[in-house]
Amino acid sequence: LGSLLFLACQEKQQANDSSPKDLNLVKADSVLSLMTLEEKLGQLQQHYVPQIDSLVELEVKKGNVGSILNGRTSFYSVQERNKLQKIAVENSRLGIPILFAHDVIHGYETTFPINLAQSCSWNKELVFKASQVAAKEAAHAGIDWAFAPMVDVSRDARWGRISECYGEDPYLNALFGEAVISGYQGDLQHKDQQVIACLKHYVGYGAAEGGRDYQYTEISKQTLHDTYLPPFEYGITAGALSVMSAFNDISGTPASANPYTLNKVLKDDYNFEGVVVSDWDAVTELILHGSAEDSISAALLALNSGVDMEMKSRSYEQIAQLKLSENLHRKIDQAVKRVLYIKFKSGLFDQPYVDEHQIITKEEKQQFRALVRQSARESMVLLKNSHHLLPIKKDKYKSIAILGPFAEEKELMGWWKSVGDAKNVISPLEGIQNVGINVTTKLQPQTDLIILCLGEQADEFGENNSKINIELAVDQQKILEKLSKTGVEIVTVIFNGRPLALQKELDNSDALLLAWHPGAEAGNALADLLFGDYNPSGRLTTTFPKSTNQIPMYYNHRNSGRPQHDNYKTQHGKPLFPFGFGMSYSEIKYGNPKSVKTEYQKDDSIEITCQIENVSDLSSKETVQLYVQDPVASITQPIRRLIDFKQVDLKAKSAEEVRFSIKKDQLSFWNQNSRNKVFEPGEFIFHIGPNSRDTQSISLLITSANPSQ
Ligand code: BGC
Repeated sequence: LGSLLFLACQEKQQANDSSPKDLNLVKADSVLSLMTLEEKLGQLQQHYVPQIDSLVELEVKKGNVGSILNGRTSFYSVQERNKLQKIAVENSRLGIPILFAHDVIHGYETTFPINLAQSCSWNKELVFKASQVAAKEAAHAGIDWAFAPMVDVSRDARWGRISECYGEDPYLNALFGEAVISGYQGDLQHKDQQVIACLKHYVGYGAAEGGRDYQYTEISKQTLHDTYLPPFEYGITAGALSVMSAFNDISGTPASANPYTLNKVLKDDYNFEGVVVSDWDAVTELILHGSAEDSISAALLALNSGVDMEMKSRSYEQIAQLKLSENLHRKIDQAVKRVLYIKFKSGLFDQPYVDEHQIITKEEKQQFRALVRQSARESMVLLKNSHHLLPIKKDKYKSIAILGPFAEEKELMGWWKSVGDAKNVISPLEGIQNVGINVTTKLQPQTDLIILCLGEQADEFGENNSKINIELAVDQQKILEKLSKTGVEIVTVIFNGRPLALQKELDNSDALLLAWHPGAEAGNALADLLFGDYNPSGRLTTTFPKSTNQIPMYYNHRNSGRPQHDNYKTQHGKPLFPFGFGMSYSEIKYGNPKSVKTEYQKDDSIEITCQIENVSDLSSKETVQLYVQDPVASITQPIRRLIDFKQVDLKAKSAEEVRFSIKKDQLSFWNQNSRNKVFEPGEFIFHIGPNSRDTQSISLLITSANPSQ
């Protein structure tokens, strides 16, 4: 293949000398021109291979295997992976290497906090670094392709997979998605530490009706473009080489058979050149959707709609039985070209094997753990702190007890723990003991402080783990209720995988801390916060409702035309904790937002400043949030929406001026009539504050540069 390819490439290059085309596309074309129909369809097939056996080896030899994925928690040994790759490279006719894929969601061997938790750090750099660690460990294990980031905006806490995304806000999903893509793919020049990223699930999966997993969705074009698509568009611009088409139906058209979202929006409008892989069996599930009558029609439907590679089910290879039209030949070629393109672009052709002797040193592993600890402490969110109970003043207490079902828990790695091992996780008890605190695990007569650890087990959230009720289990609520009657001060710590309705926990605790599933350094990070080595800085990236019945509840909803619109008969419609909320041990004061002008022209960079002051004795990291409201527009707008934020490290008793520069693009919205993003001049109200509720505003007039417009 080498010399053939070289000649073919040279020819193509000469023909194309004038265009600065990505050479990998030329190479892909060259290989494509050598392939039989069966070999082409083989490249479009991603096989589920939990274990490698002689049957798989035979298929690889025949050229039937474009890619392989295996289970959720384990991966092959490097030797096994290389052995199979050798068959593809040396014994198949064209020697095209296999792409090995795996779910690397929030860490591979070293487990980071779940993604929803990581988003609460509002720290893009940290998410980027965590992804770099995951990519390096995965690449060393022989993984070429990781199925992340998941950037499904979700507004329903019942949905188990809300734990995998970056919250309810499109902008934050876009931002953190981009961080993961850069962390995973890097410059695509270092195959031993980089993996192909996969934006998923395209699109609207987070809108599953009723929070029921895999359920259909009702999404208007407006909402599709304003809410669900932006993180994907952002991710494509960031260079993601693959996208996974979702399980769900979007208002009557399944996402994996959707020419509008796949061909038109993704491939034409966003110029995506990489691979669309279906989700697990999503092609043959078109039969269950009622869109196709058998697997061949399902294959044709998906392929024509823009799904390039089929995951697990094997309907694409059946296309070989048909008499193919010119058009179908062209569709197949386009899909195969994309698969070959990402194989070239990611360096797989140059480096199909993994070095069996490379290691990650002990020192590096220690650095990874330190990063997990940082990520975990920045992810935790303080929700209540009566009479400054936290940080715990060790000398004040005679005897501290750590209680509750999660006090000694080590399975705090979320649903996608990959190959992370619970025995490497620091439990809450161990973390507290590590800082030299003597704690008991039973209530003693002299106990004068209780740290109560409650939460959700890893299999209570994640895929196919939706809940009808987002309160903590009744037996856990009862433990707290009983303890609250003892009169002993209580710090309640919650290890959760989704937003929860925490009214009872709020009422019955003196301090309330949300720890999520924080990964390998759970207990250490917790102790850092509880005893004051870290001043909490996490901020919620989803709204926390008062009760399950309030769902859906999210901050960036549209307005009602009537006053009093947010009242139920028995409960007002406000959340328990608003989007963006989180406390620290410091007191931060916000000044009024200011701008040098009150009127701008639409192409000006609009400047707004705000003075923030730390009036306490503790240094603190503050996340200053900027929201915009467009009070009059041709399409009704969200009451406010996040467009920027700044993280500021404020020393004790210090102040700083935070400056935002706003561009017209951030004020635009998708307009159905023009089928484009539009900016409509007029009044804009900017809200600045520590969360989406407690803000101060400034109103600016932004006029069109050309008075005739
Ligand atoms: C999930 C995907 C995952 C795939 C492969 C599916 O069930 O929806 O998120 O990447 O399985 O494991």
